[in-house]
Formats: sequence, C-alpha cells, structure tokens
Amino acid sequence: MVYDVIIVGGGPAGFTAALYSARANLKTLLIERMFSGGQMATTEVMENYPGFEDPINGIELAMRMENQAKKFGAEVLYDEVVELELKESIKTVTTRKTVFSTKSVILAMGGSYRRLGLDQENRLMGRGVSYCATCDGSFYRDMTVAVIGGGDTAVEDANYLSRMCKKVYLVHRRDALRAVKSLQDEVFHNKKVEIIWDSVVEDIEGVEAVEAIRIKNVKTEKLSTLKIDGVFVAIGINPNTKLVEGVIELSESGHILTDENMNTKIPRVMACGDIREKNLRQVITAAADGAIAAYSAERQVDSCDC
Ligand code: NAP
Repeated sequence: MVYDVIIVGGGPAGFTAALYSARANLKTLLIERMFSGGQMATTEVMENYPGFEDPINGIELAMRMENQAKKFGAEVLYDEVVELELKESIKTVTTRKTVFSTKSVILAMGGSYRRLGLDQENRLMGRGVSYCATCDGSFYRDMTVAVIGGGDTAVEDANYLSRMCKKVYLVHRRDALRAVKSLQDEVFHNKKVEIIWDSVVEDIEGVEAVEAIRIKNVKTEKLSTLKIDGVFVAIGINPNTKLVEGVIELSESGHILTDENMNTKIPRVMACGDIREKNLRQVITAAADGAIAAYSAERQVDSCDC
C-alpha cells in the first residue's frame, strides 16, 4: 500500500498537517517517536493560542489536535523513523518496525533541547539537571533552583518554578533578556526570582545529585558558587534534522530551508514547524506551517503521475 502523505513528527505542525491532509481525503499517516505535542506538551499553560481565553495546558491541546486529525481519518503511529529515502518518486519511510511507501513526506520533527556541553551535565541529568520545568518542577517543591537562559522558555520556566520553589535564580549570559516583554514584566516583579546577569555556567557540582553551579561573570571574570538543588537548562532548541542531513538543504543555523509553501527542493517533500528556517517559532506558526504543507502535498500528489 502507498500512502499519499506521511508526516514525521507529532507536534502542532505535524498534527495540523495531518488534519488538513486527511480532511482533503489523502491517505495520511503521522509517525511520532515519543508523545503527541512535542515541545508544546512540556508547556504548562499557553496563553497565546487563539480561541482559549483561559490558558490551555500543552498536553491537552496536543490531545485535542491528535483526536481532531484522527476524526478525519489520519492514522497515527508511535514508532521511531530511522531512515528516509526521499529522492525517488515513491518515497520510503523506515521505522524501527516497518517500511512504508508514500507519494509525499512532510517533515515536522521539531527540535531538541540544547545542552550546555559540560561534562557534569550528562552525569547529573535526571539527578538535578533538567530541560523541562513543567515535567520536573514538582520534584523541587520548597527547594532552590537555577534556570539558565534568557529567552521565552527560561523566563517562563523561572516564573513557573517560583510557584513551587523556595527561590529561583535566573542566570543569563547578557544584561538583557530575549524573552517577550510580558514575560519580562512578570519576572521582574517576581520576588522569588533573582536574576544573575552577564553570567555563564562553568561547572555543575554534586556527587549523587546537583548541589551547586559554578558561574562566571563574563564582564568581571569573577567566579562564584550558587548552592542549588536543581538546574533547569533553557538555552534554546536544536532542529532535529539528523534524518535529512546531506539530503535536504539546511540554513546556517541547521534549520530546513523551504519556500513559502513549505516545499523543500525535493519534489513532494515539505517541512513545517520549528524544524524550518523562519522568524517566529510559536505553536500558532507551527500549526499554520502544517496547514500550508498539507495543502502543498495535496496539490502535488494530485498532479503527479506517481
Ligand atoms: P531562544 O529564544 O533561542 O533563547 C535561548 C536563550 O538561551 C537566549 O537567551 C540565549 O542567550 C541563551 N543561550 C543560548 N545558548 C546559550 C549558552 N550556550 N549558554 C548560555 N545561554 C545560552 O530559545 P527558547 O527560549 O527555548 O525559545 C525557542 C522558541 O520558542 C522561540 O522562538 C520562542 O519565542 C518560542 N517560545 C515561545 C513561548 C511563548 O510564546 N509562550 C514559550 C517558549 C518558547 P542570548 O539571548 O544571549 O542569545
């Protein structure tokens, strides 16, 4: 059997692509390696997704997106794609268990948490080093934690963790935050959050679990130690492009280059969401990308002689 569309990745981009593709009567399969929602599922409250006056939880929105796509006939498979053959007319998607054939592929693999790159970071991962405040925050009730980064995620995490932790340090490498103004306002007024400016983490200390971080002020070169129980690394996302390296054109930052219709340079291969080179990475823009990618797939599948 040959699918019309196979979508790799089950975040908001992938599920919206599945919804539009299935609704257009294309035989659609979405393959996700872990859980539905991607990064969105690690967000506790979403205040900026239109239509929800009261904030919606990321997992709930993900489940709704999955159910909506299934309602229109999209198949959803939880398995890991290990190989893609994209250049042939009929493309091949290989998972750990099965080989699938398809006329078009939509790449929606999103991104993975960027790491600090410290030796102790790996050793203490899951023992005080975390990349997901909403997943692990409750382990640090009434304790002291540090969040690293200055973007939307770091500031949102600091505000979120302050609701359960005794104290939160926000350690940022510059003297200005990158996060949107509304999040900055919230954190500047948050008495439980202390911002440590112009500082980078040099080392994470701890025997069985995290006990402290060594930080360096990049302006004064002064080293200091912060005693903490947990460190939340929120320094951005790397695009998950391993499956297509050397096959699909990537930008300097490693994101997939597409045209405005989400087409890559390979016929009937589209990319959408955070994996794509673009200016604004939000759930709403991921969903919009997904709709456009499915529309492009529909037009190309209809007109191809594959
Ligand atoms: P981001 O916007 O790329 O910010 C990463 C932050 O980490 C920056 O402040 C950066 O510093 C810092 N950083 C990067 N590498 C570092 C390193 N090696 N050591 C120390 N600090 C480092 O990543 P993000 O906050 O995860 O957000 C990713 C995307 O999701 C963004 O487009 C964001 O708008 C979106 N997002 C939106 C929401 C929302 O709308 N509610 C929530 C979360 C995320 P510099 O500032 O100096 O570069």
